[in-house]
Amino acid sequence: MKFSEIVYTRPDVAAVCEKAAALTEKLKNAKSAEEQIEIFEEFEKISSAFSTSATVASIRHTIDTRDKFYEEENDFFDNNSPLIQEKAQEFMNTLLDSPFRKELEEKYGTLLFKNMEIAKKTFSPEIIPLLQKENALTSEYQKLYATTTAEIDGKTLPITKLSPYKQNPDRNIRKKAYVAEGEAFDSKREDLDRIYSELVSVRTEIAHALGYKNYVELGYDRLGRNCYDSKKVSAFRDQIASDMVPIVADIKKNQEKRIGVDKLKFYDDIFMFTDGNPAPHGTSEDILNAGKEMYHNLSDETKEFIDFMYDGEFFDVLAKEGKAPGGYCTEISDYKAPFVFSNFNGTSGDVDVLTHEMGHAFAGYRAMRQNIIAELQNPTMETCECHSMSMEFLTAPYHHLFFGDDTAKYELSHAEDSAIFIPYGCMVDEFQHIMYENPKLTPEERNKTWLELENKYRPYIDFDSLPFYSRGAGWQRQLHIYMYPFYYIDYCMAQTIAFEFYLLSIKDREKAWEKYLRFVDKAGKETFEEIVKYSGLILPYEDGAIAKICGELLSEIKKLRSDLLFL
Ligand code: ZN
Repeated sequence: MKFSEIVYTRPDVAAVCEKAAALTEKLKNAKSAEEQIEIFEEFEKISSAFSTSATVASIRHTIDTRDKFYEEENDFFDNNSPLIQEKAQEFMNTLLDSPFRKELEEKYGTLLFKNMEIAKKTFSPEIIPLLQKENALTSEYQKLYATTTAEIDGKTLPITKLSPYKQNPDRNIRKKAYVAEGEAFDSKREDLDRIYSELVSVRTEIAHALGYKNYVELGYDRLGRNCYDSKKVSAFRDQIASDMVPIVADIKKNQEKRIGVDKLKFYDDIFMFTDGNPAPHGTSEDILNAGKEMYHNLSDETKEFIDFMYDGEFFDVLAKEGKAPGGYCTEISDYKAPFVFSNFNGTSGDVDVLTHEMGHAFAGYRAMRQNIIAELQNPTMETCECHSMSMEFLTAPYHHLFFGDDTAKYELSHAEDSAIFIPYGCMVDEFQHIMYENPKLTPEERNKTWLELENKYRPYIDFDSLPFYSRGAGWQRQLHIYMYPFYYIDYCMAQTIAFEFYLLSIKDREKAWEKYLRFVDKAGKETFEEIVKYSGLILPYEDGAIAKICGELLSEIKKLRSDLLFL
């Protein structure tokens, strides 16, 4: 089956709702656990069919946003999915109250019920107007961001288009780009401050309405976190500050030398190599062919997977007119098919699609082929990111297929970028904890907090007198802070797990792959903590974890550097 051959039909929402309600009734009246299990499985079927239609419509809409038919279908799901969600919630609540819960837990495991209980806590019909307000505010931020333009070289550009200037070999041009970006954000200063104040306040209100002390715990529950709390996350961040920050400081010192500046400034931040960042060679078609060859050679499991993806054309990665921006990986449930969407642009980001997004797809492909209910196929977000970020490293023996002579440079920049990201990610996370624990802070107090955190996590950065950044407002360009609260530390923790796979694969490739498969095949059947322990890996927030990982990582980075003569 090819993606293009999937026949789409709009589901009859009223009929689906009626069916779901009838199943809930049947569940209430069931006389045995067996009967309830049968009803649950029937419910799974109708929910899978509904999600399949919704996903197909959404994929086809993003592939060509000008297509009126799928635009309408996509709107249809935006409007009607909440109705189905409500019915699903009623069904799950009935399952939670089942007199046969013990038998059901024996069949499905206790985690399913724990997850359902967490989800239940985060919703109550009375918060609907507040949720609508929250949505309106995040949409307003998104729109503000998308329409913010910067002036450079006599041109007016969307801020996302500044990135080639930020990496220009001419330091003056780099500085100009950061000044232009800062001024652009400053021109929206009042709105950026107001939207965030209102977001913190409405989220706090939602938390109070649901009986939480503040938004922190609700934020965790909304992400379905089922094994760690903010104390553990805080322990992780502190380890990053004490053990990872010195490693990044070393990387930054080396960068200073190799790009030939006497003191690194913020506008040098992403200018890593004087002769430019490593980019894949060849055309998009070459990259796709290399991706196939890579997975054919990596393992039997990835060979089967990639053939399924390519034969079924379950991806759309070339940039085309009318296509939505960005990239994602999703799943078409009834066809047990992952789908990868992207816009190739000729940078190493194109290779990331084949390593990172295909890593997500690989995990989904395998989970959908296990005999487990949909609710247990996907783990929580930090675990999903372990699948993809580790694949970025495990595919290393085949990166030469993309980068040719530049492979060593790519490996160094990949390892360095991954390390540099972690302290920044932790800063974004700690900032949000402070914001939601102190929801009444003024815009000035927020910026002051950000600057203090800069000092803790990125002491090597000198903001000079750049507008916007030097007054501590840099957090406002990080869209997760507005749109996806607390979803960021997931990447940081996953990155440390990916480093563990990386370091292990250098020593013993086969063992690393075996371990990775074990990890992936746990799907969502266990918690992050359980899966990490089961796989024999170090938990990121365990005492001494980061020092252990970082020591080895730095010597690896030094080896890569000396191969390239960056001494
Ligand atoms: Zn990802």
